[in-house]
Amino acid sequence: MIRNRYAALCMTGLLTFGSAVGLAGCGSYEKVETLSENGASEEETGTEETKAVLEAQTSEKETEMTQAKLPEFDSVDETVYVVTEDGGTVNVRSSCNKLNNSNVIASLDTGTELKRTGVSKEWSRIVLEGEAAYIASDFLSTEKPDPSIYSNSASFAEGEVKLDPSWQYADFSKINSGAAVLYRSQADSRKGKTICVNAGHGTQGGSSVKTLCHPDGTPKVTGGTTSAGATSAVAVSGGMTFADGTPEYKVTVALARILKDKLLAKGYDVLMIREGDDVQLDNVARTVIANNASDCHIALHWDSTESDKGAFYMSVPSNESYRNMEPVKSHWQEHNALGESLIAGLKSVGVKIFSSGSMEMDLTQTSFSTVPSIDIELGDKVSDHSEGTLNNLADGLAVGVDQFFGF
Ligand SMILES: [Zn+2]
Repeated sequence: MIRNRYAALCMTGLLTFGSAVGLAGCGSYEKVETLSENGASEEETGTEETKAVLEAQTSEKETEMTQAKLPEFDSVDETVYVVTEDGGTVNVRSSCNKLNNSNVIASLDTGTELKRTGVSKEWSRIVLEGEAAYIASDFLSTEKPDPSIYSNSASFAEGEVKLDPSWQYADFSKINSGAAVLYRSQADSRKGKTICVNAGHGTQGGSSVKTLCHPDGTPKVTGGTTSAGATSAVAVSGGMTFADGTPEYKVTVALARILKDKLLAKGYDVLMIREGDDVQLDNVARTVIANNASDCHIALHWDSTESDKGAFYMSVPSNESYRNMEPVKSHWQEHNALGESLIAGLKSVGVKIFSSGSMEMDLTQTSFSTVPSIDIELGDKVSDHSEGTLNNLADGLAVGVDQFFGF
């Protein structure tokens, strides 16, 4: 992922000005090819004709670019925001030239706040890490963009979100007559991220229907509710029962409701998979809805052991064939990163953590996820699940979400 190089920078949202730390990119063009692949949502990278010219005259152009004449800037001193139509990223350049990407020094997310010191019709001069840098003026606005435009749920209205049969992997779902519910935050400072909160279990009839474990039909690589080697698994299992007789699905949804309120208060939009005792959405349907209408997917569970062993997340198995299967191949690192962030958040509020905080597990959810996605186990059959404990768990998870998105 191209943006990783600048992740720390991009994710802060608000850049610090006048920092003495020089940005790695200034005068450092070693990743030109990688950067060039980032054409999707930034300024057009040039016509085929331009590229041909470039290939023939690369060295001359390099010199020309680093010495590109600056346009006449009108001096300004104002706050501006990165804007795009699709919530993508925009390149920051060391010179006012878009002939190729050799002068790209950063790639900023939509909504990033910047200080603008000069403006011309085509280019704006901004301050990046204390240095002057340039962005095409079309991608800057003095008005802060509505955060909902750069969330993955931007095209959805508040309220019910049903499985669209045209979505990737929707065909693999067997139970999908139910609906998730999208909530928009009313907080003053909205994050522009939608968190899918998936209360584990709670689908009547879910254990008598089977769905494929993997989109390519290959068998499961680890044991679990369904053993290794199986190619299909129960569509939604019933879940365990706590030592005090409370069914897991009641506790997962109680935590989901508390977490929803905390995330909304922090400025996140929330996609609730289940809010009552039952929703007719199997694990594939839940995952595909999350893929299309959220920016990360958190499934809440408690484990079936009886040792009060603490919280952990189900990490992506370090199995070569599994990690080479799409969509796992393109997303397993972000799944694990989300898990690590949530565990760090839980730790920060004093939640007991099991072992290193993770356990490798091949899950239907992980096998079909195209957004950062994790199954987190908040404890087990003998763990306390009083309202006070659930409240603390929700606080920890919300801290973890902030950490994951860099807020
Ligand atoms: Zn569970």
